[in-house]
Amino acid sequence: MKPYADCFDYIIVGAGTAGCVLANRLTASGRYRVLLLEAGGHDRNIWIHIPLGYGKLFTNRKVNWLYTSEPEPELNNRQIIQPRGKVLGGSSSINGLLYIRGQPADFDHWRQLGNSGWSFDDVLPYFRRAEDQQRGEDALHGVGGPLAVSDVCEPHPLCEAFIEAAQQAGLPRNDDFNGPTQEGAGYFQLTARHGRRWSTAVGYLRPARRRPNLTIISNALATRVLFSGRRAIGVEYRQGEATRAAHANTEVILAGGTFNSPQLLQLSGLGPPPLLRSLGIDVIADMPGIGADLQDHLQVRMQYRCTEQITMNDVIHSWRHRTGAGLRYALFRKGLLAIGAGYAGGFFRTSALVATPDVQVHFIIFSADTAGAALHSFPGFIASVCQLRPESRGFVRIKSTDAREPPAIQPRYLSKPVDRDTVVAGMKLLRRIMRQSAMRHYIAEERAPDPRCRSDAELLAFARATGTTVFHPTSTCRMGGDSTAVVDERLRVHGIERLRVVDGSIMPTVVSGNTNAAIVMIAEKGADMILHDAVAAAPISISV
Ligand SMILES: Cc1cc2nc3c(=O)[nH]c(=O)nc-3n(C[C@H](O)[C@H](O)[C@H](O)COP(=O)(O)OP(=O)(O)OC[C@H]3O[C@@H](n4cnc5c(N)ncnc54)[C@H](O)[C@@H]3O)c2cc1C
Repeated sequence: MKPYADCFDYIIVGAGTAGCVLANRLTASGRYRVLLLEAGGHDRNIWIHIPLGYGKLFTNRKVNWLYTSEPEPELNNRQIIQPRGKVLGGSSSINGLLYIRGQPADFDHWRQLGNSGWSFDDVLPYFRRAEDQQRGEDALHGVGGPLAVSDVCEPHPLCEAFIEAAQQAGLPRNDDFNGPTQEGAGYFQLTARHGRRWSTAVGYLRPARRRPNLTIISNALATRVLFSGRRAIGVEYRQGEATRAAHANTEVILAGGTFNSPQLLQLSGLGPPPLLRSLGIDVIADMPGIGADLQDHLQVRMQYRCTEQITMNDVIHSWRHRTGAGLRYALFRKGLLAIGAGYAGGFFRTSALVATPDVQVHFIIFSADTAGAALHSFPGFIASVCQLRPESRGFVRIKSTDAREPPAIQPRYLSKPVDRDTVVAGMKLLRRIMRQSAMRHYIAEERAPDPRCRSDAELLAFARATGTTVFHPTSTCRMGGDSTAVVDERLRVHGIERLRVVDGSIMPTVVSGNTNAAIVMIAEKGADMILHDAVAAAPISISV
């Protein structure tokens, strides 16, 4: 290994959703030298930037880690795909673009768990600061921020029917899921502008890239955090066949995401001692919470054959429609290519007993057997249901001392009774919507589950047989003050100096919605705290 190749004030591991925000904010003043290490490459693939390209990135090893879970005991021992972005922008470069913050109660709950500074009132300014909301500014929304948030370009008859059917079922319409209330059916907003994806690489990293105090090294896999005692002093990383090291005068910040941040900590000697010792890793800190508490949203996709040729399936399978859609996008940045995964959807309460929505529906105007698979040759669409606040918790554990080997990932979906009950209740609610007259008109056939699948036990069996991730893993480096929490409310790793984790892994509990917006907020707030603490911290120098 070469000695420290270079010295920086901050080293950020991972140029994903959070890492790009941090790189921008920490270099803005020009006072600090920042190194951003990213295992993936540049975001040049054209399908990253065209929202519909989402489907093409599912199986692309060049931009996706393509993880798979361990067999899931409550899902008939199926292994569930776990895509994650491996490219500048991370998962914000390959995600479904939906812009959902979660519910104010999620953040108030974080505060209630002991994390001061994380109530909704505390975090709202960071959501607003991040945002460039197409609809303009108000008490809940911001303009002028780096993250473009836009309406879908045009309504679609199937989405209109879904929203109307929800109303026929007695549920409200909601034109702003990030507004005063989340409940209801409506169109999603997207992290996009002029029909192009707005990843954090686009919104945050691009404007910062030419700053002389920012060094970005892509195709560089961090393999270990380097310590002097219990103080983080740098990062070892691999570039091709070479192993290098970089030194951080002020802090090392992990932003590798929910699977990779705990993996890197464990590889570096922080984690559950039995696991580390079983692999011959010296224990620097006995921290059983690192890699524990993994949460994720499970989605159950209900598939329908459509009576009319108005779905994305029909566009993709007809060269004439494909050409038309391509031209429309090229000329006006409109049409189906400007839409990612979900188009419309809703947040609903499965029972009058819950105070706020406990399930989310993604209404998708195409159908395929599995996520990322070829679209059906007939007109079809999907509505998926996911429980918003699962209680099941799983883990991430390294299986090898080689950082290139994927860790074991096991979300343990449906392992708690309330999760099973809510999924079944959500499927019944979704069926109620689909059976209203506005939607019935478009349904030629309920393909899956079979209409004969009616009882709770049958619906649960369907969820077990077909449920998959909706891509929101969190909480493996959970923030808190209890004995198994990993970071404190300033995102500093407990008991370790000069080391923070700032990404989706720090969520104490997964938010009630899609996770990207909340992680942008976490990084905005994290950057503020890091800059504030920098004034107090005296840089140290290491002689090598
Ligand atoms: C297919 C898919 C669809 C989704 N759809 C939506 C959606 O529509 N709306 C929404 O809000 N959320 C969505 N999400 C979730 C959301 O995008 C993620 O929660 C969020 O991007 C995670 O941010 P992060 O910063 O925690 O991690 P990431 O964005 O995953 O970033 C981690 C980065 O660190 C890099 N890295 C990891 N390990 C190392 C290492 N050892 N060395 C160097 N670099 C490393 C990775 O390559 C990656 O670039 C989706 C996610 C996926 C995968």
